[in-house]
Amino acid sequence: TLVLGIESSCDETAAALVTGDRVIVSQAIASQEAEHAPYGGVVPEIAARAHAERLAPLIERVLAEGKATLKDCDAIAATAGPGLIGGVMVGLVTAKALAMASDTPLMAINHLEGHALSPRLADASLQFPYALLLVSGGHCQILRVEGPGRYQRLATTIDDALGEAFDKTAKILGLGYPGGPAVERLAKEGDPDAVPLPRPLVGSGEPHFSFAGLKSAVLRAKEADTHRDADIAASFQRAALDCILDRTQIALANMPPVTALVVAGGVAANRTIRAGLEGLASDQDLAFTAPPLPLCTDNAAMIAWAGIERMQAGFPADPLDLKARPRWPLDPDAAPARGAGV
Ligand code: ATP
Ligand code: MG
Ligand code: FE
Repeated sequence: TLVLGIESSCDETAAALVTGDRVIVSQAIASQEAEHAPYGGVVPEIAARAHAERLAPLIERVLAEGKATLKDCDAIAATAGPGLIGGVMVGLVTAKALAMASDTPLMAINHLEGHALSPRLADASLQFPYALLLVSGGHCQILRVEGPGRYQRLATTIDDALGEAFDKTAKILGLGYPGGPAVERLAKEGDPDAVPLPRPLVGSGEPHFSFAGLKSAVLRAKEADTHRDADIAASFQRAALDCILDRTQIALANMPPVTALVVAGGVAANRTIRAGLEGLASDQDLAFTAPPLPLCTDNAAMIAWAGIERMQAGFPADPLDLKARPRWPLDPDAAPARGAGV
């Protein structure tokens, strides 16, 4: 099996060729950091235009490097949501056109399913069902992953996503965009116990998340002008980790048995957070998996892989009139967390 993956839901334009036996044959990612940096965050219109300019040449390059043509592909898998709708449409429409021109099946992929199955691309031993902490720029959820298309959501955030909290902390500390890696770097030089910060929802019976109060406390700490920035960054990261560990522990206690604890999404690239979760898994006698760092943030290999998993699970190809979806929950039956529409 050979699948071409396409990703364009946020500010990474990406294409990849992946095989059924987990080989990333070729891949390319064009980041739009430089375009969005002056605005301190992703500007949807700029993102959509940049995807439209870069995607086709990127696909050509990935095919050439993989010495493959569209005819060699068993499917074209593209992110169909959730995300910034202009960018999603560029990727999905491109995939539809290529699928039509080459008579290749289209697999429309939920970007979150890409993140959720990415650990299985890197780790062939990871079996369903597993507990997944999905921590990215737009989401913070705990799911029981039972198979492709089969997700039980136990927890979500009632306000900000964790990646968003990292990005806002970076902005408050003047570290620019994108914020997560910059906060992690600065935190290394700081004392995580120096600044007293809240741990929202820690101890509550439901495993949901909240990060808005933590962000406001970071802002107050910065404005007080009595702490080193490195200490604020380190203390924020520690507080966020404490929240995650407590919430994950509650979720694990509330779900049927799983084979492993898994973390995925952009924030899974954070070494402190990976190490903390690995410790929790070992306390609970659970295996622990996190994708290699380049598979944590947005990429097209995970989208191709999700297409492969869905084909192997027997999902049919998607129709060429399929709609792009700005919102698309992995578990449509999950009750919304109180106070939130996500
Ligand atoms: P979603 O997947 O929810 O649609 P997205 O695709 O924008 O959102 P990802 O690319 O998965 O998000 O992740 C990006 C987020 O990960 C950003 O918020 C970024 O700050 C954060 N991030 C990336 N690297 C790190 C890191 N080393 N430490 C903390 N956060 C990080
Ligand atoms: Mg990004
Ligand atoms: Fe993402």
